[in-house]
Amino acid sequence: MAYQTVNPTTNKLIKTYPNHTEADIEAALSAAHALYKSSWAQGPIQQRVQVLERLADLIDARAEELAKICVQEMGKLISDARDEVWIIAEIARFYAREAEGFLAPIRIESALGEAWIEHHPLGVMMVVEPWNFPYYQLMRVFAPNFAAGNPVVSKHASIVPHCATVFEELVNEAGAPKGAWANLFITSSQVADIIADDRIVGAAMTGSEGAGAAIATQAAKHLKKSTLEMGGNDVFVVLEDANIDKAVEAGVFSRLHIAGQECICAKRFVLHEKIADEFLNRFTEAMAKVKIGDPMEEETKLGPLSSPEASAGLAKQVQRAVDAGATLHLGGKPIDRPGNFFEPTILTNVTRDNPAYFEEFFGPVAQIYVVKSDDEIVELANDSHFGLAGVVYSANIERARALASRIETGAVWINSFASTAPELPFGGVKRSGYGRELSQLGIKEFVNQKLVLVSNAS
Ligand code: NAP
Repeated sequence: MAYQTVNPTTNKLIKTYPNHTEADIEAALSAAHALYKSSWAQGPIQQRVQVLERLADLIDARAEELAKICVQEMGKLISDARDEVWIIAEIARFYAREAEGFLAPIRIESALGEAWIEHHPLGVMMVVEPWNFPYYQLMRVFAPNFAAGNPVVSKHASIVPHCATVFEELVNEAGAPKGAWANLFITSSQVADIIADDRIVGAAMTGSEGAGAAIATQAAKHLKKSTLEMGGNDVFVVLEDANIDKAVEAGVFSRLHIAGQECICAKRFVLHEKIADEFLNRFTEAMAKVKIGDPMEEETKLGPLSSPEASAGLAKQVQRAVDAGATLHLGGKPIDRPGNFFEPTILTNVTRDNPAYFEEFFGPVAQIYVVKSDDEIVELANDSHFGLAGVVYSANIERARALASRIETGAVWINSFASTAPELPFGGVKRSGYGRELSQLGIKEFVNQKLVLVSNAS
């Protein structure tokens, strides 16, 4: 696929970027490998984390420009783009501040002698990233690997080449050495070839199940570690004692955030029967009156989907759900105006034999389920191929905590929509993937946790 910036608000082509050549790929791999073998990777961490501090400052200094590039390229609201730019600087600062402690040796009590675990870089990583958080996804893999001493070659989504280019520029400007981060405009088969290359030690991928399976297969074939961050169909549980005002507000925000194109967000609304009608009425009213429009305008609350294909695909998915027996309670189709706008949509009566029951809707489409008991909530929540995140709204924190413990996902949020922070681990179970990004867990995914033991017998 060509690397192109096409504005999703108008579908006007802004710029086409040429693909990198085989010679470019070779140059990137050899620079990255040479860097891994150098004192940069093997030496003290301070020289690396100082670059992350500078990077954070550079991002802050260009925040508004970066936000606008993002809006133009993938259509998220300008306020969300500003939030994304803010958090990538925070992630860089977080690892600048914390990485040394995370990677410090850990003593182990052992009868065999004095033992400890050291943390060492592994080598060059291949990362493949999606467009929905076009900077944040890159920072999630760049900052921890850079701090740990792993150079990275990156393939970004083909619809966000401007974000990919500007991220690379910032990393270089911050003083990262040659080879630390290479953005490559390449095909899927070239990604497979890179993973096979002996200089690559692992692959991290965020995106769809198909692409994740392809990358994990290639990594496994060459006995290399991979981490996968895939999709989800998170539950948003509202118990009968929940604050309905807050739950409706958070539910609408979460389902429409990034026009519904977010991996962790409210996708299946699971309502206790005692408040189901009230919640649904108010949720429907709020979804129906949301301000749809140009994502550059501050008052807009729902912008376009990322591409015409995304909009057409979502329309087909909704129709398939309705054909299989679901009720279209609200919306359901693309909006007749330039750009890839889609109506806020609500599906009810989704039965287990409906394909929609197990699918992720990557757009502003909510599914509604009504339940009678906590056991039923757990059964429904866990009757999913995915296991990314989930939300429970309740005034009874003990009950919400008990539910959270029983839901099979990588995270559960109580009385808030699911979100992210540098110190919080991010990742899923089941087909939502494996491994974690961010936090101290993220930085340890691609380091050698090496045991050293001085024997009592010595
Ligand atoms: P996608 O089609 O899988 O694309 C993601 C990336 O993979 C792009 O760079 C894409 O390149 C590349 N790609 C696709 N097929 C590939 C292959 N066979 N080999 C190598 N690279 C390949 O995903 P998407 O539809 O853009 O992203 C949305 C999905 O990502 C959703 O399911 C969402 O839930 C998930 N997601 C998960 C997280 C998380 O942290 N768990 C975060 C964000 C998104 P091209 O653009 O060139 O096709």
